Amino acid sequence: MKIVWIGTGVMGESMAGHLLDAGHELFVYNRTQSKTAALVKRGANLLEKIEDAPLKADIVFSMVGYPKDVEEVYLGEHGLLKNAKKGQIFVDMSTSSPTLAEKISAEFAKIGAFALDLPVTGGDIGAKNGTLSIMAGGDKDIFEKNVLPLVQHLGKNITYFGKAGKGQYTKLANQIAIATTMISVAESFKFAKSVGLNMDDFFKTVSTGSGGSFSMTSYGPRILKGDFKPGFFVHHFIKDMRLALEECEKMNIKLPGLELVYKLYTSLEEEVKNTNGTQAISKYYNL
Ligand code: NAP
Repeated sequence: MKIVWIGTGVMGESMAGHLLDAGHELFVYNRTQSKTAALVKRGANLLEKIEDAPLKADIVFSMVGYPKDVEEVYLGEHGLLKNAKKGQIFVDMSTSSPTLAEKISAEFAKIGAFALDLPVTGGDIGAKNGTLSIMAGGDKDIFEKNVLPLVQHLGKNITYFGKAGKGQYTKLANQIAIATTMISVAESFKFAKSVGLNMDDFFKTVSTGSGGSFSMTSYGPRILKGDFKPGFFVHHFIKDMRLALEECEKMNIKLPGLELVYKLYTSLEEEVKNTNGTQAISKYYNL
């Protein structure tokens, strides 16, 4: 199958790579073109312009950064909608706004095309290993017949949640769960360190007991090594928490835990927010 993949960053490069490994003909586009080099070396074709994507592909995937990037890629002056045709399928896997996902789906439906939202969870390691959890919103038949067989190369736990936007709502609920577990890891480390425990032994014991979590297992070792390379960029996590808080405001519900974590992450230095992974919350606690 001919597949276009837009956005070959931390997540996109690994995810697109699995489709290449599965034998599909892959076309890749990224804003900073050099980030497509590794996939091109492995046999992918370089796509020069986003607007040409629908001309090359049976199906187009995107894994970009912010809702404004998703909007530009899909609805912008040189975006996918420009050349999209009846029956074509577009799948955004970025973490973005549910309202925007609904809008994109409605715009593509006007020409008889399908736009689905399939955000993911499982981190950079899940993307590398093809073990992501994937939450789908959009047309159910298209999801089951056309999209599921492809995303099965990217993830293990793949669930359909309903019409366009529902994938993104699910992802935001997931980010709310992660928010407090990131803080719980940093605070338990702070306490353990302050009372003088052996930190490696502490991590081994707690991560495999009831204090364990995905955040503890994935990011605990990186905190202990002082490795702040992104995995999951702080600035993306702040974006996700802001999106969740905006939805809470619309529904008039209050999530004080989420509000606190958002405040702590936004208080980190600009340099940290722009370049570090989410384990850098340890810097707030001087770990
Ligand atoms: P990333 O490394 O910043 O990758 C995003 C890529 O999209 C970058 O290479 C960027 O290009 C490209 N891009 C952005 N806007 C574009 C545009 N308008 N046109 C073309 N390319 C564009 O981020 P990531 O970690 O892969 O995350 C991608 C998305 O997945 C985000 O929405 C994030 O919240 C979500 N997510 C991340 C994780 C994780 O653990 N990392 C887990 C689940 C979900 P440039 O190189 O020019 O910036």
